[in-house]
Amino acid sequence: MQKISPTRPKAFLIDLDGTLYFKGEPCLGAVETVNYLRQEKYQLRFLTNTTAKTPKMLHAQMQALGFDIYENEIFNATYACLLYLRSQPEMSCHFMVDDAVKAFFKEIPTDDDAPDFVVLGDYGEGFDFHALNHSFRLLMNGAELIALQKNLYWFSSEGMFLDCGAFVTLLEAAANTTAKVMGKPSETFFRLALESLQRSPSEVIVVGDDITSDIVGAQTMKMRSILVKTGKFKPNQLENPVAEPTWVPKNVSELTQLF
Ligand SMILES: [Mg+2]
Repeated sequence: MQKISPTRPKAFLIDLDGTLYFKGEPCLGAVETVNYLRQEKYQLRFLTNTTAKTPKMLHAQMQALGFDIYENEIFNATYACLLYLRSQPEMSCHFMVDDAVKAFFKEIPTDDDAPDFVVLGDYGEGFDFHALNHSFRLLMNGAELIALQKNLYWFSSEGMFLDCGAFVTLLEAAANTTAKVMGKPSETFFRLALESLQRSPSEVIVVGDDITSDIVGAQTMKMRSILVKTGKFKPNQLENPVAEPTWVPKNVSELTQLF
């Protein structure tokens, strides 16, 4: 099989949902692939835009599926946001996130009257008129808007639900501002992931099933990328693609032949 590049990478940024597991089951050969990459001494980070779960909760979920990964290798939008806030000197936040995620930010000073940032994540029924109007006023008074992710809706067995992004968009329009988005494909997300590895873009390869988040993010940061044909992948995404993956194997287990 053709090698992606003569340059051996030092690390992989691997998406979780649709790449390593799909619909509650590990993808074919995915557990063995992670074991192989670890044995070959590659640095690994596992990426997800899920913001309703902390890295600890995601770690427990991946272990239950049989993956040998460490909690500190999980890199989600919530964790990226924590790193970003830590990098900001003397700031305070007003959070619109659920309780488990708010506890994850316990080291960050909160200020519900005059914060520097308003942080939106998955908040479900917490997004009521009073809460949204309060955040709108904070933004009009100069707070900056941070969105953990910007998905507009999601599906459950009960039907479709408005997601965090719908409320981010509402506040952006009302307060005439633009949110800083923490999840994939934002440059902030991938830059923080690279910093956590202490690697340059040329040393790292992104692996994912979503051309619009994983591969676009990789291309923005000038990293090589692998688009797997599992999970969200659809063949028509390769006609006039929004980004060019370096390689398109049928599933993640082909990494063991490429590297
Ligand atoms: Mg995915």
